[in-house]
Amino acid sequence: MQFIDLAAQYQHLKQRIDKRIQSVLDHGNYIMGPEVEELELKLAEYVGVKHCITCANGTDALQLAMMVLEIKPGDVVFCPTFTFFATAEVVAYAGATPVFVDSDERTFNICPQDLERRIQQVIAEGKLTPKAIIVVDLFGLPANYPQLEVIANKYGLKLIEDAAQGFGGEINGKRAGSFGDIATTSFFPAKPLGCYGDGGAIFTNNDEYAALFRSYRVHGKGKDKYDNVRIGINSRLDTIQAAVLLEKLAVFPDELVSRNNAANTYSDALSTSYQVPFVPDGYLSSWAQYTLVSENRDGLIDLLKKSNIPAMVYYGTCMHQQTAFKSLGYTDSDFPVASSLCKKVFSLPMHGYLNFETLSNILNTLK
Ligand SMILES: *Cc1c(COP(=O)(O)O)cnc(C)c1O
Repeated sequence: MQFIDLAAQYQHLKQRIDKRIQSVLDHGNYIMGPEVEELELKLAEYVGVKHCITCANGTDALQLAMMVLEIKPGDVVFCPTFTFFATAEVVAYAGATPVFVDSDERTFNICPQDLERRIQQVIAEGKLTPKAIIVVDLFGLPANYPQLEVIANKYGLKLIEDAAQGFGGEINGKRAGSFGDIATTSFFPAKPLGCYGDGGAIFTNNDEYAALFRSYRVHGKGKDKYDNVRIGINSRLDTIQAAVLLEKLAVFPDELVSRNNAANTYSDALSTSYQVPFVPDGYLSSWAQYTLVSENRDGLIDLLKKSNIPAMVYYGTCMHQQTAFKSLGYTDSDFPVASSLCKKVFSLPMHGYLNFETLSNILNTLK
């Protein structure tokens, strides 16, 4: 059994994907070929924003956001402690200070109350300048943007949505990738919409930001890439990956339905004996992960392993516990919710091609 069955998806799409890749091999426009622009237009339309700018991966997408917002030493960017390393890494890489925020107990996303408390703390200390918030749609569930937008506006902070896991999610019909000033996503193969290598994208309604992103991703280009008007990076999505993504995006809405059906099957069967994922009214998750909470996590993972069922831990280490962030001096008592979650969470197989037999097998083992 696969945790994320990319082979089953490929079998389903083989003809279409092979044909699309072949057509790139035929035209030979491997960098910034026509598929890249076609994909950007389709992604922007799907998400419901004015601009989509693709790039080499989800981490670069976040780094480019730091560059466009001119995040620098002395600045503070707030982000959740319960996330993948890249979210906080780009802040430190820009020379700024990440200030970590605890999780909401029910959604596991950034806790708006704790965020506001920490913003006020940084202002009161008066040493560093609060500039932005990076919010993560953890495990596919969009964060609480209605409240987060109010806080960002109140303190004059830029809001960045890290939708690496959230792509496909919604709040009252508004799609992930459309929240905040800038949103980013990742097409790493295991993400809800993945390619066959690394890939990423940025979404924004801001024309000025969009122009800057297009410049920064190609060496700070001006008229062309030999006219360099600012210091940028080289971060483009390969044409072959764009071709793969065009075919995968076409079936993505069907896969989302299938992922939600699988999640509902899990939750219906497990809610009496486990803490199952909470999805607030009006929210739709893309189910990047289906995550349970149990005091006996390690025992359950062993039990599943004995039945050849793969289970994973996302995340066993919070940002404040990472060696790379040791110098920030946090302790677990600063983040009681996240510090407890990282000891108890585990995720079950989740993808768009889980059949009844596989689901039954998993559920019978857990019950
Ligand atoms: C995967 C992920 C990233 C980074 O994406 P890459 O494409 O692997 O660079 C950033 N943030 C979150 C929350 C992620 O899950």
